[in-house]
Amino acid sequence: MPNNYFAIIYLMNISINKYIYTILIAIILSLMYYIIKFKNIFMHTNTGYNSNIKETSEEISLFDDKNSLANSILDNANLIILVWKGAGNLIKFNNYAEKLTNFKESEMLGSGWDGRLVDKPLKASMMLGFKDLANGIIVEPHETYVLDRLGKKISVFWNNSVIYEDNKPSIFIAMGTDISARKNAEEKLLKSYNTLEILNEKLYSAQEELKRRYKQLEESQNSLREMEERTRLALEGSKDGIWDWKIKDNIFSLSLRLKIMLGFTDKDLEDKISSWIKLIHPEDLQLFQHAMKNHLDRKTSFLNINVRMKTKVGIYKWILVRGKAIFDDNSSPVRIAGSTTDITKRKKNEETIYNLAYYDTLTNLPNRTLLNKMLEKELTNSILNSSKLAMLYMDLDNFKSINDTFGHSFGDKLLIEVTRSFNNLLEYNMTLSRLGGDEFMILIPKINNNLSATRLANKILKTLYRPFNINGNSVFVTASIGIVTYPDDGTNIQSLLMNADTAMYHAKAQGKNNFQFFSKELNDQIVKKTELEKTLRFALLNKKEKEFTVYYQPQVRADNSELIGLEALVRWNHPKLGFIPPSQFIPIAEETGLIKEIDEYVLRTACNQLIEWQRKGYNIVPVSVNISANQFKHKSLFEKIRNILSETNLSPQWLHIEITESATIDDINQTIKILNNFKSIGLKVHLDDFGTGYSSLNHLKSLPINTLKIDKSFVDQIAYREQEKAIAHTLIQLAHNLNMEVIAEGVETQEQLAVLQAQHCDGIQGYFFSKPLPPDQLESLLSLHFLESEKNIV
Ligand code: C2E
Ligand code: CA
Ligand code: CA
Repeated sequence: MPNNYFAIIYLMNISINKYIYTILIAIILSLMYYIIKFKNIFMHTNTGYNSNIKETSEEISLFDDKNSLANSILDNANLIILVWKGAGNLIKFNNYAEKLTNFKESEMLGSGWDGRLVDKPLKASMMLGFKDLANGIIVEPHETYVLDRLGKKISVFWNNSVIYEDNKPSIFIAMGTDISARKNAEEKLLKSYNTLEILNEKLYSAQEELKRRYKQLEESQNSLREMEERTRLALEGSKDGIWDWKIKDNIFSLSLRLKIMLGFTDKDLEDKISSWIKLIHPEDLQLFQHAMKNHLDRKTSFLNINVRMKTKVGIYKWILVRGKAIFDDNSSPVRIAGSTTDITKRKKNEETIYNLAYYDTLTNLPNRTLLNKMLEKELTNSILNSSKLAMLYMDLDNFKSINDTFGHSFGDKLLIEVTRSFNNLLEYNMTLSRLGGDEFMILIPKINNNLSATRLANKILKTLYRPFNINGNSVFVTASIGIVTYPDDGTNIQSLLMNADTAMYHAKAQGKNNFQFFSKELNDQIVKKTELEKTLRFALLNKKEKEFTVYYQPQVRADNSELIGLEALVRWNHPKLGFIPPSQFIPIAEETGLIKEIDEYVLRTACNQLIEWQRKGYNIVPVSVNISANQFKHKSLFEKIRNILSETNLSPQWLHIEITESATIDDINQTIKILNNFKSIGLKVHLDDFGTGYSSLNHLKSLPINTLKIDKSFVDQIAYREQEKAIAHTLIQLAHNLNMEVIAEGVETQEQLAVLQAQHCDGIQGYFFSKPLPPDQLESLLSLHFLESEKNIV
């Protein structure tokens, strides 16, 4: 480094000057020596130099005279001057040396210097120097040190010279310059150089670091620029709007695209947070404010909320508002910015999906899933407010027949119309839902008593009095309604729905077209029914032969009362409960499938009975066995009948099958197939309870039926009501036209008989002639072969 460099040159100058100076002194000293020597020779002639000591004393005497010119030159020189006579024998230690080291000349002379002026390592190198001198080799100017009285090192630059005597080196003169200052300066310089070097290194690495940082900065600036570019492109491409709110200064800005999204131009919509928030739907405002607050309170990492926003033309769009805030060191928000996306389409799709999941597509009414959800909510409300609620469970009567007769699209239209008429009856807080098929539910929350439910049920029944006009046809439909209330009839959804169902079935059982409240009694009935089912199951499994018997009711010709047939009717005599009427246990048996056991039992018993009577010699008549509608559809039935016939060895001509109208309705082709199977083996079929189901005269035409049984409900009125009389008349004529016979059921009076006789009804069955009888009692009605043969003989 330049400073350093110059410093060294400067120091070198000093040493060069001092070097010249010492050479000068050496010349003076030599001169002095020779002058004195000459003087001595001159004064002491013939005095030889025999011993060293003598010589030394002579040499010492050389400096004895303190005031001599030579001495004063030596003493006043600004140099350390040490004069040696022979190796190690110091004969001069000048004033300057005394001052510098604080040693006295007297202490140093001779070998006094040893161990004081020089330490051991220095002395060793000095002795080598002396040796060289003795050999005439002058030690080159060099730097060593001497010690002062306190042992402190003093740096000295030595320049040595030698004086010869008799061509031999004899006096050594060492002239030293105190170079401590230079050394110090040098050291300091070195130190500062080192410091400088360290600093330089630091500077260099700082510079490198700076370079690196700059590069980094440049890179991140580039990627920032790229990112900005990308964001700008993405935003331009994405149709999203941008909003930005510098909270501290309350500077709010909206991008043009955001304004366009809501149908505004740039000038239409002010860049003010208030004018933006004003557009949020009142129902969504609180949600929005809450979400914003949560984010600004650092409770959420993003603002992310869907709100409806009013467009310029006043319609609402679904907007997804996103944002992120920046916070200062005190965690208070400085700025928040974000985007807006129009998600109206997506919301619409979501709504469609929601509607599909929760609404019935035919009637647009809430479906069972949604009803359950609403019920859950309403029940919670009722529990919290200790209020009551009512549920009306409606099932259309005979809807299935309408559907089967007129087709499903007709049925669907009817359901839509029914829904419309129900909807017209609802008050604001009531909800109508469709549970499926022809089942509906109306929920009435917060009722005080049963009055509103009763009133509504009555209105529903009444509104159905008028026919619905579907495809130009007038259709009548009725409904059976079951009503439950919370908390009286159940405290959870499940029990309420179950009891509503029970109440509705009760209404059906009461002849349909009415409403029933669920009640304690009804519940008791259910419990009884369940118990009866258990008893029935047990009896059929274990004590069939013991508890069940078959009674036979005669069927006679209307004109001459001749026995033409018997109807087999099951009887259950329970050891504790006594006779249980079929009307009580047959529906349970049908519901539970136990009817299969019963029908088989009656079939086999009746067949066996005829064989038995034949064996006893009676003239037998055909027996009609009732087959339940759900058994009729079973493929196995036909096989079963054939097996029983062959088991019992009864000819099929003696067996008639009674099926109800409802058994034939479901699948007309299947029904025809089954009936033709029966026909193929010679079985005759009676259509039971005709006129109670949904009249299907169309069906009747195509069914291979032998006999039509007019239901007791017609017969009851036949004697005094013209309408029933006319219907019976038409039915009989129709049956005859279709080559069917007619049996009237439940004939109890002479008047009824007379009417039926007049209408040419073929057969009569009823208490007027005989109640169903046990086999032994019936035998008296059967004529005996031998009587017949006796008659023939007579
Ligand atoms: P259903 O097939 O219509 O049988 C005729 C019912 O009318 C019998 O009742 C009979 O006792 C009753 N009855 C006949 N004449 C008169 C009358 O003049 N006045 C009155 N009041 N009633 C009369 P029951 O035996 O109580 O049977 C009731 C129903 O139970 C039967 O109606 C039938 O549907 C069913 N049922 C009876 N036995 C069986 C069976 O073995 N299998 C099946 N599947 N059902 C059966
Ligand atoms: Ca019957
Ligand atoms: Ca009947």
